[in-house]
Amino acid sequence: MAMITGRTRGGAEWVPQFVTALNPQTCIGCGRCYKVCPRDVFELVDRADLMEADDDHDDDDEMMVMAVKDGQDCIGCTSCAKVCPKQCHTHEAAAA
Ligand code: SF4
Ligand code: SF4
Repeated sequence: MAMITGRTRGGAEWVPQFVTALNPQTCIGCGRCYKVCPRDVFELVDRADLMEADDDHDDDDEMMVMAVKDGQDCIGCTSCAKVCPKQCHTHEAAAA
């Protein structure tokens, strides 16, 4: 299956790795990924809202964490993963 590929200025091929998930359990809400992302992919949310469907979640958890708002806007640069101190992001190449 052909993957979405890009080219460097020098003509070398590279395969973008698009963000597919962000782990709200490990995120500390530092905002580094939000700041570095060149697109409109992330938003800060209340972790309790993300965990509503999870029976084990703590109702008193009022921490703000990052979430993927629009994964379709990702260009697959992986800058978010490079700056994240908690390795929260998951990335995958995508079919063209
Ligand atoms: S891979 Fe790049 S464009 Fe995609 S979410 Fe991360 S920083 Fe943003
Ligand atoms: S850089 Fe990592 S820890 Fe910081 S807000 Fe983003 S996902 Fe959360």
